Amino acid sequence: MKEVNTETTEKHRKHSPAHILSAFSADSAVINIMSQVIRIVVGEIATNCYLLYSNEEIAVIDPGFEGIKILEKASTLEGKITRIINTHGHIDHISANKTIKQATDAKIYIHKDDADLLTHASKNLSLLIGEFIQSSPADVIVNDGDVIKVGQVELKVVHTPGHTKGGICLLADKFAFTGDTLFFDSIGRTDFPDSDEKMMFESLKKLQNMLTDDTIVYPGHGEWGNFSEIKRVNPFLSMASED
Ligand SMILES: [Zn+2]
Ligand SMILES: [Zn+2]
Repeated sequence: MKEVNTETTEKHRKHSPAHILSAFSADSAVINIMSQVIRIVVGEIATNCYLLYSNEEIAVIDPGFEGIKILEKASTLEGKITRIINTHGHIDHISANKTIKQATDAKIYIHKDDADLLTHASKNLSLLIGEFIQSSPADVIVNDGDVIKVGQVELKVVHTPGHTKGGICLLADKFAFTGDTLFFDSIGRTDFPDSDEKMMFESLKKLQNMLTDDTIVYPGHGEWGNFSEIKRVNPFLSMASED
């Protein structure tokens, strides 16, 4: 969970290469002829939910809130939602799991160390915002190094604990979903009960070694950008590599 500074996000959007690549709107980018990433900003804490579309398959990454809005957007694509992937188990990334699963029978994927957050209203922090929200349980438990196929795209699971114990990033050839581990100019909070600051910096170091300069990074909140841009503006990455 993170508050987003809209002023900086607007500024970054203008310079985002993904924006230049955009075929349909500022929230959509064609990765290649067969694959597309669409961002849908959902809920009061402005979570980035992403549709990854490839070869008539759609994965919904982090359906934080507004399940109907996500389903409507997905219905404009010629494909079927087959997977729901949660980068971690916080409420602002899982709330609409149930709505989407009920409508599509998609399978829910989450790392083993965050799986219990799905059905645990205090662990997933929903009680913090005065609500009691439970997702459907996980269908597929993932671990570091697993590969999730969505159409022609292969998403490699990278375990990046720190914000939560079971946080993951999803790495494809030219892009990565980084959840609340890495934002454009910041990182996810490490002051929650499940957080660990030391682990967070280890995870950032690990991630930094896996991303290339031209990887498009799609974070869980705020603007996206090329990893080279992010390295320039994000002070936490240099802190992690100096560590
Ligand atoms: Zn979070
Ligand atoms: Zn979040």
